[in-house]
Amino acid sequence: MSNPYPHLLSPLDLGPLTLKNRVLMGSMHTGLEDRFFNYGKLAAYFAERARGGVALMITGGISPNRQGWLLPGGGTMNTKLDVLNHRRVTSAVHAEGGKIAMQILHAGRYGYHPFQVSSSRVKAPINPFKPRAMSERQILRTIADYARCAKLARESGYDGVEIMGSEGYLLSQFLCRRVNRRTDAWGGPIENRMRLPVEIVKAVRKAAGDDFVIVFRHSLLDLVEGGNTWDEIVTSAKALEAAGVHLLNTGIGWHEARIPTIVTSVPRAAFREVTARMRKELKIPICASNRINTPEVAEEILARGEADMVSMARPLLADADFVNKAAAGRADEINTCIACNQACLDHTFSLKRASCLVNPRACHETELVVLKTTRVKKVAVVGAGVAGLAAATTAAERGHDVTLFEAASAIGGQFNMAAAIPGKEEFRETIRYFTTRLARTGVKVKLGTRAEPADLVVGFDEVVVATGVVPRRPRIEGLEHAKVLSYVDLLREKKPVGKKVAVIGAGGIGVDVAEFLLHDQDQTIVEFEKAWGIDASVREAGGLTTPKPRTPRREIWLLQRKPKAKRMGAGPGRTTGWVHKLMLDREGVHMLGGVEYLRVDDRGLHIQHEGVTKLLEVDHVVVCAGQESVRDLLPFDMNAKGHGAGPRFHVIGGADIAAELDAKRAIHQGTELAARL
Ligand code: NAP
Ligand code: SF4
Repeated sequence: MSNPYPHLLSPLDLGPLTLKNRVLMGSMHTGLEDRFFNYGKLAAYFAERARGGVALMITGGISPNRQGWLLPGGGTMNTKLDVLNHRRVTSAVHAEGGKIAMQILHAGRYGYHPFQVSSSRVKAPINPFKPRAMSERQILRTIADYARCAKLARESGYDGVEIMGSEGYLLSQFLCRRVNRRTDAWGGPIENRMRLPVEIVKAVRKAAGDDFVIVFRHSLLDLVEGGNTWDEIVTSAKALEAAGVHLLNTGIGWHEARIPTIVTSVPRAAFREVTARMRKELKIPICASNRINTPEVAEEILARGEADMVSMARPLLADADFVNKAAAGRADEINTCIACNQACLDHTFSLKRASCLVNPRACHETELVVLKTTRVKKVAVVGAGVAGLAAATTAAERGHDVTLFEAASAIGGQFNMAAAIPGKEEFRETIRYFTTRLARTGVKVKLGTRAEPADLVVGFDEVVVATGVVPRRPRIEGLEHAKVLSYVDLLREKKPVGKKVAVIGAGGIGVDVAEFLLHDQDQTIVEFEKAWGIDASVREAGGLTTPKPRTPRREIWLLQRKPKAKRMGAGPGRTTGWVHKLMLDREGVHMLGGVEYLRVDDRGLHIQHEGVTKLLEVDHVVVCAGQESVRDLLPFDMNAKGHGAGPRFHVIGGADIAAELDAKRAIHQGTELAARL
């Protein structure tokens, strides 16, 4: 078979090391780095990805000293005990033929603790703590700490280190005027502001040796006021190259930037242009990053000469076997990252261990184990939403004889509706993934078949009820009026909608529906840059320009009964909510909390709001008031014992709990159940 991705799968010479292909697994904080007793789990997590064919992996951030912690007690590399712990990781990776570099990350003013330091005493807008400005002595000690940390990383068996110099952490805080207000040799012109990262690279090279790989993650686009200009970014990149960096990785946007850089609505490879431009300035290889999630996109970037490597982090959480599948011509089997952040970054920011919505085994490799069964059972799964799909395919992979019943003519359930939202097209990839996985695992799929109890009670050992949910119909006068639609009418049936619309319910689906009503298409990279005010040529500091929001198609009222809290319009995601909220605000959506719904009639929706009766003269009212479980297949009380002979019944996904229904729980529950059947 010819090589389907010749550029992606070709080796890359970094000097000290030749990599077997062009895939770098970007650094992601999983939470496993922070606990001593979790290093076995961390080793299994990386080993699985090394086995999956990734050329070089970067660990989550390890701080060079206490001031640099992201959180108190974060991962460290200071002692001989640390070395022993990290060796578990490196030896597991090397045993699988992989390479791994440790990321050294000093959080600076992003550290969530009172010992944090920075270039100057300027507080971050996303952190309550105010940093102390580092003295020259502290700066020199920090350089020595980086060097010691790199030396210990080498002793631990790492193939190199990545020095984190972007995303607004300490080195960005020195590189940019936004924070660096110093008047000594470490502040002022770029030649001074870049001194700390350059001296760190030199010290690391000296301490760890010329044959130890140094990757530097450099911010090519800060996306904050007071960020660097292109000339300054190039000057510092060249100095880093001269100091001894072997590979320059791309960083985009500080964490405090109010421009989305990785969420689903960011077009794929949206920032490739800046990497391509920097590649022309340097001799060392350069790695592209952000929203690269398929082998096709990665190959295209490399084939066009826009980068020498591609960094993917979340896509390798979603599928550890990404590279092997691509190399074997089985790219349609890749479980594609949908950039939802729900189980990875949202977890990290809630201090929970990271995982992946589409792959619940991520970071739980030693706990959620899917083994071949020793006793083949006949399993019926009812409902081909993501809960049922995860259960059916996992059970079939284990060797069970699985039949999947689905009343609709296609698989995917609620995911099909999510995929209709502009900016959520990635959700279609999950449906494609399950389509190929069903075929590969030999699940007998019965579409257009509503399973009746009689079909299930004979002939099956296990029945998994994954029948999902129906939209809740709240008790509001006039709800049968022709103006009233449910979100299903809108997203699945594609019923026409007028120019003025009220949305009842501002949960995840209400926010999605508001976005659907505002725009009917996905954004191109150029439209995305315009809407968010990104100047990728970085003529102005930080690459910012005036945003020009798209013209909304409709006037929308987004309503809820709860008082209007700060997060109204944000949807459920912790790290994605601000993007939705900012967009709805900018595009003029009227968000009203504390609403009482009075009635719908020919004139529109009558509400009580802030003590006043108001009429919203809308053409349509779309109800997004949550869901109720569909459990009518259950022949008995699930909790009652002794329901006699016949199959065992299990309920998962929305059919189990409709409130807080979400795909993360559904896929996890389906996989976890099937692993036990
Ligand atoms: P939801 O998040 O529970 O929101 C339901 C909304 O309906 C709330 O705003 C609620 O607000 C309102 N409501 C509930 N009962 C009502 C009643 N009787 N009358 C009028 N309003 C009522 O449910 P959802 O929006 O349907 O979303 C379902 C699940 O899908 C959620 O768990 C969500 O996390 C998930 N989801 C996730 C995403 C994502 O991007 N991650 C996107 C979409 C959906 P009040 O009670 O204040 O009126
Ligand atoms: Fe990607 Fe979502 Fe999985 Fe994170 S949780 S890796 S964003 S699919």
